Amino acid sequence: MKALVFHNPKDVRVETVEDPRIEESGDAIIRVTSTAICGSDLHIYNGMFPQPRNMVLGHEFMGIVEEVGAHVTHLKKGDRVVVPFPIACGCCNFCAMEMPTHCENSNPHYGPEGELLKGKGGALFGYTDLYGGYSGGQAEYVRVPYANFGPRKVPEGITDEQILFMTDIFPTGWSAIDWAELKGGETVVVFGCGPVGIMAQKSAWLKGAGRVIGVDIEPYRLEMARKAAKSETLNANDMDVVEAIREMTGGYGADVCVDAVGMEAHRSVFEKALNVVQLEKGSMKVLEKCFDAVRRGGTVTVVGVYGTPYNNFPLHQVFDKGIKLMGGQAWVHRYIDHLISLVQDGKVVLDDIITHKVPLSEAPRMYDVFNKKEDNCVKVVLNP
Ligand code: NAD
Ligand code: ZN
Ligand code: ZN
Repeated sequence: MKALVFHNPKDVRVETVEDPRIEESGDAIIRVTSTAICGSDLHIYNGMFPQPRNMVLGHEFMGIVEEVGAHVTHLKKGDRVVVPFPIACGCCNFCAMEMPTHCENSNPHYGPEGELLKGKGGALFGYTDLYGGYSGGQAEYVRVPYANFGPRKVPEGITDEQILFMTDIFPTGWSAIDWAELKGGETVVVFGCGPVGIMAQKSAWLKGAGRVIGVDIEPYRLEMARKAAKSETLNANDMDVVEAIREMTGGYGADVCVDAVGMEAHRSVFEKALNVVQLEKGSMKVLEKCFDAVRRGGTVTVVGVYGTPYNNFPLHQVFDKGIKLMGGQAWVHRYIDHLISLVQDGKVVLDDIITHKVPLSEAPRMYDVFNKKEDNCVKVVLNP
């Protein structure tokens, strides 16, 4: 089959690889009809997460069941499914707690201490050996382990584009807002107007926010946030964004700040040098802005990815302001059925952020375009 293979940082290629096959009785093989490139893929592409061997990438995908293992009862050949990006067994302690990204069985290198670059949590599709080493879905076919637990059948009459983002970015945006436990009427500021940030903004409205403000540094992405999420927007390059948020909130700061940027926030050469000296992968500068911009007693949630410890963590602010802090990989399995029903009932539209829809063969070029934020690229869908 054809698949997008990671070779080295900035070197991904579409090439012929071995077809996946059933390895365990709970596996299914899916023929991929649509898959997407995620900001998380860029962390591998840019060498922020090491990947020593070639690997088929891709954790956002859906398609048609081609074959199932002997113990798969929830799916049959021909079913059309969308697949959550975390690989989870469905029967361990963490799966029982509906925290699939901490599954104890899916990642052979699982380490309960959870330190990101050594002991790991549960596995993710196509996301380095640290996260289990499973081949991903930017491919014609993919092996889906624990197929009774992860994949969800797509309701009749819904297109791939309408539902594809159930794999990751919509449940991720939703997690960021759900963790903040809105009561209604809150001011929610989302740092990052990439696909995840915009999904968090859509989720904030659905969860009863009174005001939603998106922050980014790319004017075209701010425009997308205004259009697709009906948010107010702030360009962090044009102003002191923390001061602006305070001004907009009577001096208090936002009730909730979401970090949907993560460690690859745009940095100056000086900042980069400092991060290298401090052995940090990327920077936590956006998270620092969240702590600054949130009101006393407010909540900061972190869905942007961080990969190492960071010096000068502003613990004093967390303490003095009494900030609630929560983050992590999204609990896709916990939310996905409810979120599918929101799409089915027309309560939310997800495909309005798609700017590029191309054949899988163009994936290497699209990695470059998406990474450089060229061609007004917000979200790329690939069709194998
Ligand atoms: P993206 O790279 O397209 O978006 C990041 C956005 O941040 C860009 O629009 C960029 O312009 C903006 N940005 C950069 N520096 C900034 C700054 N200083 N201030 C404000 N904005 C800034 O990626 P994405 O697909 O939207 O993903 C965002 C993050 O979420 C990534 O770290 C990704 O790995 C992570 N993610 C996490 C989960 C999860 O389960 N927690 C799931 C999917 C993605
Ligand atoms: Zn993703
Ligand atoms: Zn499990």
